[in-house]
Amino acid sequence: MGEFKHKHSLGQNFLKDRKVLIKIIDSVDVKEDDLIIEIGPGQGALTKYLKLFHSYLRCFEIDERVRKYLNTFEDEKTEIIYQDFLQVDINEVVKDIKYNKLYIIANLPYYITTPIIEKIINSKVEVEGMVLMVQDEVADRLCAIPGSKNYGYITVYLNYYFNLEKLFTVDRSSFEPVPNVDSAVIKLSLKENRLIVNDEDKFFEFVKDAFKMKRKNLKNNLRKYDLDKINNVLGKYNLALQDRAEKVSLECFIEMFNSLK
Ligand code: SAM
Repeated sequence: MGEFKHKHSLGQNFLKDRKVLIKIIDSVDVKEDDLIIEIGPGQGALTKYLKLFHSYLRCFEIDERVRKYLNTFEDEKTEIIYQDFLQVDINEVVKDIKYNKLYIIANLPYYITTPIIEKIINSKVEVEGMVLMVQDEVADRLCAIPGSKNYGYITVYLNYYFNLEKLFTVDRSSFEPVPNVDSAVIKLSLKENRLIVNDEDKFFEFVKDAFKMKRKNLKNNLRKYDLDKINNVLGKYNLALQDRAEKVSLECFIEMFNSLK
């Protein structure tokens, strides 16, 4: 890696632990006619392993200084695109590739973990699965279960689309330079028979409202909605308006929202 100056501001902590890289690729079953999108290939530590799938591969890297490390990966199925992933039109990228399933596999730049995940979901491109290295603390938040202190809006939002699983934690010593947080790899798998609401934007606004003031209960946070209807649904789940949103499952949120119509 020589004299390369890592940019802390771009979350440049490169993976150097081969065992971790192998565990990441072992956690997904990508076929040759599938497409992988990698965000932030850096010097190609993960890219090298993703190439073993022989699938289509599109990597988005904001820092052109790593071009010399990534050039060798390019071929008829692999393209490295030097662009801020948050500015990319994902639909445009995938539209001309005749792939079967789309996977997102990345060791994410942690400073934009949530914007990246939200961007992918908002693009409406169908993603079969994601395997993402994130900050350990964030992994706990994303994969939390109702009733735990980490459970929040983002948990419900992701649960609407995906089954979430924290696969394993990764010690900070697996990275160069060593960051000051531990990490974890999470897996998001598209739900096969997911419950669907009619107006997703309104639904997520409702969920956001429920979590608005962390210390307030549902009665306070949802006062602008019909509380009688909400209370009826809560009763079925052994909950009450005095409870906080962190106890409410996705199914209960959906039922409450549908009852308001
Ligand atoms: N994949 C490499 C690895 O595992 O060693 C590098 C991972 S490093 C944690 C995150 C990478 O994301 C860095 O290479 C950084 O330059 C890149 N990055 C940061 N912000 C980005 C953005 N907005 N769009 C695309 N890449 C970005």
